Amino acid sequence: MGLYKDHGAVMRTMRLGEADRIVTILTHDHGKVRAVVKGVRKTKSRFGARLEPFGHVDLMMWEGRGELQTVSQAELVASYADLRRDYEAYATAQLMCEATDVVAPDAETNPRLLRLLLAGWRALAGHVRQGTPVPHVLRSAYLLKLLGVTGFAPGLRHCMACGGEDGLSAFGIDAGGVLCASCRGPSDVSVDPASVRLLQDLWRTPFEQISDVHAGEVDGIVARAAEYHLDRRLRSLAAT
Ligand SMILES: [Zn+2]
Repeated sequence: MGLYKDHGAVMRTMRLGEADRIVTILTHDHGKVRAVVKGVRKTKSRFGARLEPFGHVDLMMWEGRGELQTVSQAELVASYADLRRDYEAYATAQLMCEATDVVAPDAETNPRLLRLLLAGWRALAGHVRQGTPVPHVLRSAYLLKLLGVTGFAPGLRHCMACGGEDGLSAFGIDAGGVLCASCRGPSDVSVDPASVRLLQDLWRTPFEQISDVHAGEVDGIVARAAEYHLDRRLRSLAAT
């Protein structure tokens, strides 16, 4: 309990009564935090627009007895709010927030998760500023990397059953990666070699360098793997 400093990414906001708001922030040192911002919707609020989604903020927080904490100060480190100007960027950012929110445990630190989310927003805002189209495949790239950060990195180079590198032609959702023709079971999803290569590329390429390619079966495989491990149907995915 008491006052503490941290920084984090504002993932979600919700109205609370006439003037207040509840914000969900992925912080660096305190994991996912839900906090009340008092008076934020008044015109003379000292918080201004600093506590909007897609903002990276320095925070002074008050932790009381209840589940909700209180934001006592907030300074913008960087805002990626520009990404709202483009529908695809906005929808992708929403998916990033939703999937991250699902996997981020309350009050447990995972700085890699915060870095991943900020890197995702930065890439989206960059496309909007430069006027370049947001690659749809960024969604799959984000989910793949999110699986990695949460300890479910898919195996993409070797058959998950025998370790062989040849004839990789299926993806086993519960096996957690690719399978060769001799090891695949009836419930495993077929993938062509081009898709295996694309999965490997998405896995190792930074978001900024990912360009739009025809993702074909890759989107479906990544969505299923993410849902399997995130243990919940992702609403943002269903909408695309
Ligand atoms: Zn095998």
